Amino acid sequence: MSSRLDLFIDRMVSQRACLDYAISETAGMGGPIYELGLGNGRTYHHIRNRVTGRDILVFERAVASHPDSTPPPELTVLGEVTDTLPATLAQRGAVASLIHADLGGHNRAKNDAFARLISPLVEPLLAPGGLMVSSDRMYFDALEELPLPTGAVPERCFVYRRP
Ligand code: SAM
Repeated sequence: MSSRLDLFIDRMVSQRACLDYAISETAGMGGPIYELGLGNGRTYHHIRNRVTGRDILVFERAVASHPDSTPPPELTVLGEVTDTLPATLAQRGAVASLIHADLGGHNRAKNDAFARLISPLVEPLLAPGGLMVSSDRMYFDALEELPLPTGAVPERCFVYRRP
């Protein structure tokens, strides 16, 4: 049986593998990247280090990240994603080249229920050809689930594409 440490390491390794894959797959797209859940800012920092020429818009209810990993205020969307995602869709339309979601906590059933709730709010934000990386399984109508890249652990990360 996997220990909590095993699960944590699997999640981190999978996030990195899936983000690197998704950044590379969408490198030719100019639309912004949406980071859902800043937390400590580790994945934000990783994306920022590897992406040039695309805005990274961060969605978070309360910023408490490492100072090196704090986005500028003009690229921070504060509030509940259930409010801020529909508002962003209304303002910007389907323009995101990559969306990364890491919004969950320790309760897997709660994470799954929240993923079901926000899937229809996330889906319309992606531009055609855009990718979505999530720590939780999502429930999309029109996005296709992609095979995981090398290094990612099944069930610890999920990758979707808008055709
Ligand atoms: N990926 C981050 C990192 O590498 O440091 C960790 C993200 S942490 C697991 C989840 C974050 O999502 C928390 O900071 C929490 O405040 C945020 N969050 C959870 N639910 C949210 C919601 N409904 N609206 C906005 N932010 C939310």
